[in-house]
Amino acid sequence: MTDSNLLENPEALFTLGYGLYILTSRKDDRLNGQISNALMQVTDSPPRLAAAVNKDALTHDFISYSGVFTVNVLSESAPMSLIRLFGFQSGRDKDKFSQVPFEIGLTGCPIVTDHVVACMEARVETTLEGGSHTVFIGQVSSARIISTGRPMTYAYYREVLRGKTPPTAPTYRASLAERPPKKIKETSNMGKYVCDVCGWIYDPELGDPDNDVPAGTSFDDLPDDWVCPECGAGKDEFSPVE
Ligand code: FE
Repeated sequence: MTDSNLLENPEALFTLGYGLYILTSRKDDRLNGQISNALMQVTDSPPRLAAAVNKDALTHDFISYSGVFTVNVLSESAPMSLIRLFGFQSGRDKDKFSQVPFEIGLTGCPIVTDHVVACMEARVETTLEGGSHTVFIGQVSSARIISTGRPMTYAYYREVLRGKTPPTAPTYRASLAERPPKKIKETSNMGKYVCDVCGWIYDPELGDPDNDVPAGTSFDDLPDDWVCPECGAGKDEFSPVE
């Protein structure tokens, strides 16, 4: 089998198992974090963790600068609003830690205290070049249980919460196979539009009542500052669908 044959079967990648975490770091007194599923324990004595982080992410800058990161293991109780905050929004636009309860750990990185079952603080020993991502390998300096509850898996996130995958995630390409097909609609401006970031669909017949957009509002008539209720992307991130 050739490489091209493998690439024609992205569903194979869905069989890989992952957890779902908030990966946090700091840069001096600034704090940030992001959702990560690309994270694993690589050794036991001493315990080391490897985290793959997109080079464009603010958290990447912070870990590169400070050499520390903390893994917060999400609970199945975590609401989508928490996952959206850390998974679909950038710390460059918003101070995420102004919106969630947290404490500062021994390395200075924030530990999220709600909807997290455990945390591990790590100091970076090695970085590996990984194309779009850097793999940070860190030795665990502190680990503790935060609360009881079941750790959230990536499968639970996708199947139970119907969660989407942002373009910056290592697994984003694989998720394309599950996204709704796009097709340009030429005859009417009352068609549906899909968010290119998270896959949420705007349906003019339903509007967006939670954000004061009444049913019957075409996509063109949405206010310029309207954003995707799922991930916060702007109107220019939407494409028409059939
Ligand atoms: Fe979206």
